[in-house]
Amino acid sequence: MARIVMKFGGTSMAGTERIRRVANIVRRQQAAGHEVAVVVSAMAGETDRLVNFCREANPLYDPAEYDVVVASGEQVTSGLLALTLQSLGCKARSWLGWQMPIQTIEAHAKARIDCIDAPEVVASMQRGEIAVIPGFQGISEDGRITTLGRGGSDTSAVAVAAALKADRCDIYTDVDGVYTTDPRIVAKARKQKAVTYEEMLELASVGAKVLQTRSVGLAMKEGVRVQVLSSFIDDDATPADELPGTLIVSDEEMEEILKDSDMERQHVTGIAHDKNEAKIILTRVPDKPGAVAHIFQPLAQASINVDMIIQNVGRDKGETDVTFTVPQADLPRAQALLEDKRSDIGFNRIITDDHIAKISVVGVGMKSHAGVASTMFKALADRGINIQAITTSEIKVSVLIDEDETELAVRVLHTAYGLDAEDEAA
Ligand code: ASP
Ligand code: MG
Repeated sequence: MARIVMKFGGTSMAGTERIRRVANIVRRQQAAGHEVAVVVSAMAGETDRLVNFCREANPLYDPAEYDVVVASGEQVTSGLLALTLQSLGCKARSWLGWQMPIQTIEAHAKARIDCIDAPEVVASMQRGEIAVIPGFQGISEDGRITTLGRGGSDTSAVAVAAALKADRCDIYTDVDGVYTTDPRIVAKARKQKAVTYEEMLELASVGAKVLQTRSVGLAMKEGVRVQVLSSFIDDDATPADELPGTLIVSDEEMEEILKDSDMERQHVTGIAHDKNEAKIILTRVPDKPGAVAHIFQPLAQASINVDMIIQNVGRDKGETDVTFTVPQADLPRAQALLEDKRSDIGFNRIITDDHIAKISVVGVGMKSHAGVASTMFKALADRGINIQAITTSEIKVSVLIDEDETELAVRVLHTAYGLDAEDEAA
């Protein structure tokens, strides 16, 4: 017997019929002899609808009352799932954020989970009751409802799994696992048996949006074994216990999995792309101490995340160009801020470009193998794809290219690193 946390997203919860399918999957998991807790999202589109109501009611809405409104989507689906499970003859009850309780720090609309101490929930599960827990919501120290930020129910599920000391946290979603790259771009993309937390963090943050990034960080910190798998399955589908999806695990467990399956670790695990960044070039910035600080301080104060940064070689007159990227949505704000500080920074021109894409190759195997970056540069050069900027970390190499070349670059790299599936037709 194991203790399993199952999480279902908004698409899986959208309407009575789908909730019935979910209830069936949950019932089968319990029938396999496990203690089961389920974390649910609101119905797809519901949170957007509720956010709009808040905006209409008061454009300068109070985040505490916003939380009261938007948390209701998950209250509805958790109650409906408990009812549906009961109709199938299961014992089930809902545990709202304040009942469990899921304590958060009181930053409304972007709260962080502080602690979950839920002996009553554990006791109930041990009596054979399925615990149904709304994702996304918690309770602040002073007893008010909080929410965790959009997409937060993945984080709820991982936090609940950690608190309940679950053997596994199964995240059911509309894809059947984590692929080597976006299967809509590369037909030969392969589903991975397992990836490490570190790899998943890089893949999630560079645009492979399977899980909320924060949930992966939490799983790594708490050592929660996560499986990503499809909720669109039939009665004869492979049971979750046979791990049909992708496991997200520690480095050590990854070694075991590779050993057992006789596989060799690939140098590159996945290729991600991200079209949501914009490039800013400041020309003729003084090449002296403090100049770069003048650029990035105001951006940091405005909570604008700077990603890639390159400072070019200085020119003869003690000047240099500085290139960096910011989220596309923040470009107008960043540009205005920099214009405002023009005399402090002392640049000549500001050039912006939001028609760019960031392509990243990710893999822990890179730590021990040289040549990953040069393979990337050669493969792109052979296709005439120009690289505008480069950054690296221990397990990632990212380049900036023209947005129009995104699909080509991803395909070329997928082949260059030997990731193409063998038999499937392209
Ligand atoms: N319902 C919330 C949202 O749409 C949380 C989630 O589904 O993860 O952001
Ligand atoms: Mg989601």
